[in-house]
Amino acid sequence: MPQLNENFLKLEKNYLFINIAKKIAAFKEANPDADIIRMGIGDVTLPIAPVVIEAMKKGCDEMGVKETFKGYEDSGAGYDFLKEAVSHYYKSFGADVAPGEVRINDGAKSDCGNIVDIFGDDNVILVTDPAYPVYVDSNLMSGRKIIYADSNEENGFAAMPDDSVHADIIYLCSPNNPTGSVYTADQLRVWIDYAKKNHAVIIYDSAYEAFITDPAVPRSIFCVEGAKECAIEMCSLSKTAGFTGMRCGYTVIPDTLMVRASDGTEVSLSQLWGRRQGSKFNGVSYPVQCAAAAVFTEEGMKQVRENIAYYQENARIISGTMEKLGVKFTGGVNSPYIWFKCPGNMGSWEFFDLMLEKIAVVGTPGAGFGKNGEGWFRLTAFGDRQRTVEAMKRFEDLISKIN
Ligand code: PLP
Repeated sequence: MPQLNENFLKLEKNYLFINIAKKIAAFKEANPDADIIRMGIGDVTLPIAPVVIEAMKKGCDEMGVKETFKGYEDSGAGYDFLKEAVSHYYKSFGADVAPGEVRINDGAKSDCGNIVDIFGDDNVILVTDPAYPVYVDSNLMSGRKIIYADSNEENGFAAMPDDSVHADIIYLCSPNNPTGSVYTADQLRVWIDYAKKNHAVIIYDSAYEAFITDPAVPRSIFCVEGAKECAIEMCSLSKTAGFTGMRCGYTVIPDTLMVRASDGTEVSLSQLWGRRQGSKFNGVSYPVQCAAAAVFTEEGMKQVRENIAYYQENARIISGTMEKLGVKFTGGVNSPYIWFKCPGNMGSWEFFDLMLEKIAVVGTPGAGFGKNGEGWFRLTAFGDRQRTVEAMKRFEDLISKIN
């Protein structure tokens, strides 16, 4: 009989969004005519830009012709044309990333979860709380010790390191899911100094970088000096270009990022990750990589920015409502997420139930992202404009009744 990896038994029984889906299903059964507005799960709703679809179709056509057909990609790390486009994109906002430091993947979630394969199980993992659940879950699955840095109302949901505590691997996410907060360059410098002092590696998730509007906020940790000696960055086209159903992202591991093995030899993390991927990952489909490369063209950027602007306007509508009602919140600017304090000191799940019952609007309870999320709530700006406006009307109505 096989032994189980019993670390899995220590995980929350259901992933957060499965619990939410169950509650919605029960509400729907009891209220079949209810007009539910979903502002919970962070999925996009606008179709993919035409120039991107054209590029994918062309990639498909090439697959049907003997001379241009593609089988396995040699490296599995992405075609040069896409890695070069990503490198060029980084340069456009001041980060020096070489094409060889880029690895193409099927989205940021896989690499955020799988990167732990190249690190030993005795590492101390530091995660900001609240956080995107993958960072915690993937380390719990391998039984690692996790410590938390508190993101809370006092620090504007931008946790900073505690110099008296040691960590080996640090997860940071900016713009943050779920809180919508962003790190400034000065704050990232503090994290980089902390990482260097502790010989730690930062895993930096920049999945929402395209939502940054403030030119003073870094779009990549590699915009900040010193990051190339201590950080790995993971990004994705899911939110930048609506690729949640296409699946394409990229991980940057600088050539300069080295970690000492137990026998004292310096090991390149990029090589180690390449070795891991070589055994376990066969790359992203050619047509999807063609589509991804089109995102980074001048016309592609223009078209995807139109969709981002649409979501940003939704975010402005939501945060404008919060301001009008005097509800405390973070995000909404530089981020598609609005993270607000539940009115009347309600708990997150209590407020979730109230919103569903009274106004049929679905959000995400902050408590699902960690202990500091209790009493907070996340709404996303990825919905339809009219539905967002309607949800905010209902929300105003609900809050005026509570107050
Ligand atoms: N990182 C963060 C912070 C996210 O919120 C998400 C998705 O919601 C991802 C990574 C994963 O994105 P994908 O796997 O679609 O690239």
